[in-house]
Amino acid sequence: MEFIRTLTALFFPERCPYCGDLIEPCEIACRKCYDEIRSKHASIRGGARGYRCVSSFVYDGKVRRMLLRLKYRDRTQFVPQITEILAADIRKVYGENAFDMITCVPMFHKDKIDRAYNQSELLAKSLSKLLDIPYRDTLIKVRKTKKQHKLKYTERKTNLSGAFQVLDKESIKGQRLLIIDDIITSGYTLGTCCKALSRAKPEIICCAAVASAQDKYPEATVI
Ligand SMILES: [Zn+2]
Repeated sequence: MEFIRTLTALFFPERCPYCGDLIEPCEIACRKCYDEIRSKHASIRGGARGYRCVSSFVYDGKVRRMLLRLKYRDRTQFVPQITEILAADIRKVYGENAFDMITCVPMFHKDKIDRAYNQSELLAKSLSKLLDIPYRDTLIKVRKTKKQHKLKYTERKTNLSGAFQVLDKESIKGQRLLIIDDIITSGYTLGTCCKALSRAKPEIICCAAVASAQDKYPEATVI
């Protein structure tokens, strides 16, 4: 595997997801960026509206730019490097073998067609491989909603009301679920998904997001 990675790197050299500099095939970021992005602690004081959530980074600077490129500019090649750090944090916070399945915050089907992919699904599928936990689609977004980050905090809850439905309740019953999103801010998106999933009676539901914007928006943590 290492040989194939090295061979691939000869033709497609790996780059740091945060600054674009060339890095070694086994590295997940250049040393300068790694030290910088890990020096800030990603606080999730309010969780996802009461559901536990882990996050690797603070959503600003290089991390913010990287996630915007992932979301809007097709830079999906960085998903393995990004998730390697998040997988380590998930193991550290929740422990080994803590979950039976990994799932993600779904997109409305037309939005996914327009973007060609759901970045949260790519992150969740990569985490599934790294953590050796099966990935499953568990939710469907049944209607288009306004972009959460463009709304006032008071409007965020009602914007998502009834937007997510469980695909197959029986497959979730008694399971330990980990749900993934790219960013957590108010926690309403992940929290609303967790609430929808909870109706199917899983054993536990926990969340993970690459980055947290809660430090920048302290009002987001008020439940
Ligand atoms: Zn870098």
